[in-house]
Amino acid sequence: MSIDIAIIGVGKIARDQHVPAINGNKAFRLVATASRSGGIENTENFDTIEALLAARSDVSAVSLCMPPQVRFAAAVAAIRAGRHVMLEKPPGATIAEVRALATLAREAGVTLFATWHSRHADGVAPAKAWLAERTIRKVRIDWMEDVREWHPGQAWIWQAGGLGVFDTGINALSILTEILPFPVHLAKADLSFPSNCDTPIAVTLDFAAPENAEVGAVFDWRHEGDPVWNITVETSEGVLRLRNGGAVMEIDGETQTLEDVGEYPGLYARFADLLAQGASDVDDTPLVHVADAFMLGRRVAVEPFTE
Ligand code: NAP
Repeated sequence: MSIDIAIIGVGKIARDQHVPAINGNKAFRLVATASRSGGIENTENFDTIEALLAARSDVSAVSLCMPPQVRFAAAVAAIRAGRHVMLEKPPGATIAEVRALATLAREAGVTLFATWHSRHADGVAPAKAWLAERTIRKVRIDWMEDVREWHPGQAWIWQAGGLGVFDTGINALSILTEILPFPVHLAKADLSFPSNCDTPIAVTLDFAAPENAEVGAVFDWRHEGDPVWNITVETSEGVLRLRNGGAVMEIDGETQTLEDVGEYPGLYARFADLLAQGASDVDDTPLVHVADAFMLGRRVAVEPFTE
């Protein structure tokens, strides 16, 4: 039997990825939305999540696709109404929010899934397996794109809690924390804030890692042309590179053949498994690194940003 699910917040990611992934998974049926902008064709839409929860007791799960600043209140409403919850990344505007949701979900006996879509990129699991057997010497993350092309009109991204360049950089951190066989912690960061924005447009990060492995990252939204979403890992036995956000894996420059699942189909398959097991999956590690960067990072003022 399929699970009746609703999408809350119908923007770019809901339309581009969640709707097709739900429609492509027999475990789910998209039956409703809560959206201020009109929702999705042929699906009942409500103005607010509260109205949806009150009217549709058949909806047993919700997928929250709005910006992080407003995700917590929606998640609390859904959990209190006894619904299972899937959170887009980042799972909250703060770490305390995410931990509070995990506790609430446990007490309510519902599933909470804090998703990291990049962890389901086709190269991530094979990269993790390959690295597990090798000594890592150096990791370099280059995550660069043109914000005007990839985030047009998304005012929330520049407002406090919107994360700025970390909105996409956190995807790299979600992969890093999945594939490395050891934990790292932030040692140094430079954050470049446009003088008219609450959030950074570019950052450099240096992490402390065991055995003096060098681990560093550059995220930059001022990049022009094709985006660069690469993670390069130098090991004792060759160089692994994840390209295209983890969709492509190279070993010593040779592209590897990968199983073609896709990120969002992978996420909904995992959500279905969690629901079947009555389990939750809430890993806030990528968000911890972002919070550390805001705490430890040197603030650099750069020129104002205009769309
Ligand atoms: P978006 O296009 O701006 O859409 C967000 C939607 O959330 C809006 O269209 C709006 O939908 C709803 N919303 C509710 N309260 C809002 C508020 N106070 N301000 C703005 N929107 C509000 O953003 P998005 O790119 O889909 O990103 C949403 C989340 O998905 C973010 O956390 C982002 O990190 C994540 N994500 C985005 C991408 C991507 O490529 N864009 C990829 C992966 C993950 P209604 O009009 O229906 O209310």
